[in-house]
Amino acid sequence: MAELITILGSSGSIGVSTLDIVARHPDRYQVFALTGHSRIDVLAAQSRQFRPRYVVTGSQQSADLLQGQVPVGTEVLWGEQALVDVASHPEVDSVMAAIVGAAGLLPTLAAARAGKRVLLANKESLVMAGALFMDAVRDGGATLLPIDSEHNAIFQCLPCVAGKVETGGVSRILLSGSGGPFRTRPLAELQHVTPAEACAHPNWVMGQKISVDSATMMNKGLELIEACWLFGVAADFVEVVIHPQSIIHSLVAYSDGSVLAQLGNPDMRTPIAHALAWPQRIESGVKPLNLVDIARLDFEAPDLERFPCLALASSAARSGKDYPAALNAANEVAVAAFLAGHIRFPDIATVVEAVLNSWQPSEPSDLDAVQHADRQARILATDQILAINKTKARIS
Ligand code: NDP
Ligand code: MG
Repeated sequence: MAELITILGSSGSIGVSTLDIVARHPDRYQVFALTGHSRIDVLAAQSRQFRPRYVVTGSQQSADLLQGQVPVGTEVLWGEQALVDVASHPEVDSVMAAIVGAAGLLPTLAAARAGKRVLLANKESLVMAGALFMDAVRDGGATLLPIDSEHNAIFQCLPCVAGKVETGGVSRILLSGSGGPFRTRPLAELQHVTPAEACAHPNWVMGQKISVDSATMMNKGLELIEACWLFGVAADFVEVVIHPQSIIHSLVAYSDGSVLAQLGNPDMRTPIAHALAWPQRIESGVKPLNLVDIARLDFEAPDLERFPCLALASSAARSGKDYPAALNAANEVAVAAFLAGHIRFPDIATVVEAVLNSWQPSEPSDLDAVQHADRQARILATDQILAINKTKARIS
């Protein structure tokens, strides 16, 4: 019988790639629910192609718009509780968690608590609520499979015993990152880069938020925190290495001197297909890797002056408590402000740093505490953006 899948964030970049794999294997996978927020036209087309039992949107208004465009047999729902319901429905086998940002936390957590096979793209939920999330995976008996290409690569390079990854004999995890579109841009020019330039990643096609995070390298910082939770290691165990070609997706170093890497063309369908079929392998439509065409692979250390967000995330990872939740929320607010043209690119790091500097940390013992930290950091970040704009107005 085909496996039933809920795809949270199906209208986004990861969602579309996931449906591409599902369409290649109709005997193996069947869509139970699709969810999006605002792209109604995409959800309508996806519903007609995949005929899910449910499709979920962000508001009653968008649900009303979608109503007349879905096939018979598909029910339109909207709102947060509907996301939680389709992620934890008893008939669902697997949940692709591909909502962007903190909005993904509740449904992803619900899938973990309900013991689903959770394919985790939404790294922000793990950054915000790492301990809570890993407890939910354990207590719910869920299987957690990483979609982020680096973590999927690390997962593939780690020994797996009885379905669980082991880190015995591992001496280091090497998290690779391309350095994004501004790796070699003169520092002074970063004041003037546009959202379109920040979103033009040299190797990957992704949603806007993660594209900006890649340009600041906050993405690598969030991934460092994600790696610590996924693989149960301390921040010092993870080393970030810049690899501009994005062919090696990450590496694992062993105490005997061996280093294992996972290679592939930069196409998210590889990690998605890997996680969907694990422990089996299925065809993904990804172009085979041609090493002779690639010819060379380069590596360098990250420049923390150019990428202050990476240093901020690394420090939040080491400080623990609710620092990562504050970092994540402040970053989401700052990235949205940059995309809306309200602040400049380097201001993203300024805003996050100011929030972390004034942060009164506490141990987030439950979901309420995590959500409280998230709200507080958003208020502080918004104040900081207002202060930056006031200063700008005074100068001009
Ligand atoms: P996109 O922006 O392309 O898609 C985001 C999805 O989330 C869309 O379906 C969007 O709906 C939905 N969404 C947005 N806001 C809300 C909300 N408030 N409530 C419910 N749903 C919402 O992002 P990506 O696909 O690029 O990224 C998704 C996640 O995967 C992120 O956490 C990212 O970090 C992670 N990831 C992405 C990679 C990539 O290659 N793209 C690689 C590794 C990780 P709509 O568009 O209809 O408004
Ligand atoms: Mg990644």
